Amino acid sequence: MMSPTQAGPLLISGVKPVGFGKGVSQEATDVLIGADGAIATIGSALQGPDGTRRIDASGAFISPGWVDLHAHVWHGGTDISIKPHLCGIERGVTTIVDAGSAGEANFHGFREYIIEPARERIKAFLNIGSIGLVACNRVSELIDMRSIDIDRTIACVEANRDIIIGIKVRASGVIVGAWGITPVKIAKKVAKVLKLPLMVHVGEPPPVFDEVLEVLGPGDVVTHCFNGKAAANIMEDEDLFLLAERCARDGIRLDVGHGGASFSFKVAELAVQRGLLPFSISTDLHARSLDNPVWDMGTTMSKLLSVGMPFEAVIDASTRAPMEVVGLPTENLLSPGTRAEFTVFDVKDSDIRIVDSMGDSAHLSRLIEPRWTILGQEAVKASRYEPHRTSALESSACPHCGWISAR
Ligand SMILES: [Zn+2]
Repeated sequence: MMSPTQAGPLLISGVKPVGFGKGVSQEATDVLIGADGAIATIGSALQGPDGTRRIDASGAFISPGWVDLHAHVWHGGTDISIKPHLCGIERGVTTIVDAGSAGEANFHGFREYIIEPARERIKAFLNIGSIGLVACNRVSELIDMRSIDIDRTIACVEANRDIIIGIKVRASGVIVGAWGITPVKIAKKVAKVLKLPLMVHVGEPPPVFDEVLEVLGPGDVVTHCFNGKAAANIMEDEDLFLLAERCARDGIRLDVGHGGASFSFKVAELAVQRGLLPFSISTDLHARSLDNPVWDMGTTMSKLLSVGMPFEAVIDASTRAPMEVVGLPTENLLSPGTRAEFTVFDVKDSDIRIVDSMGDSAHLSRLIEPRWTILGQEAVKASRYEPHRTSALESSACPHCGWISAR
């Protein structure tokens, strides 16, 4: 519920727009949001009516609200998920997409206990495995043929089309075992019948990354695209790199999905150097990646910036690109009459040491740090996540699932 201090018009002054598409000036401006939560006026030296709350954001950027296309927030229904607020508006993220924490057997609880009460917009890819990530990687959601119930999965999607935006399948050896590529093919068939995109997690074979790409079509999403796992790394096999490049050109979306085990600075840097940018930047935040090595969306965006991805591209890949996957409008997001939904953030000089999923470390010289999340006329203070465990560099993650054991 909105507190009385959040009522009335809101004036954000001195922000530089970025990520709103062509034709929107990046000159610093003021944004006045009306008491109804819609943008009233954009311009310089604006004065709101009496009772207007003001945020002086001089020097900060304003972008569409950040979208994290891969996170896990079915807290209480899976052993791996975190509460949405840990990765949501307090971190500058207005839309969280849960990537397959729930399957058809437990989606109703996810909807009732997490999605509906949340302040963030939460959308979901439904796991093709009925049980979802209940006991993630200990009890695989794709242990054998009985793990998939096509009729119930279709019925679950039809009953929840307002939230479910696609089907998810985890295609790596620890999940599918001897079943290989088959679950990907079944998931693709179900997604096709439902006219929804498929998100595939790629990792250690089977199946091999190459055969996964061959099943996919335009609009589908490959998450963990810059993983550094042996035989799943796009930069160690020229044929796979060329295939990934061709798929990206054809409209298959390469998503970062950092996570505990799936992002390598080296792979990302080499791919970006060769012009292969991710379509979307996402965290794969969950209980085993939060404190090490992911932290939050802003830090993940900063990592892509550090490997050479241009600033505007980083912002697009964290806003309008994933919004397209979610089915949100991507035009006129900074125009009078549109409901305000923004992230106000700084790009600061920094000297912070961070790690990727491979344990390689790097210094971030520029850090993208959220300051405010704007939802209608509400302004929520946002900040970076402060990791709790001992230094991220002192613990190690399981190469398969990202499970952290402190040394
Ligand atoms: Zn995940």
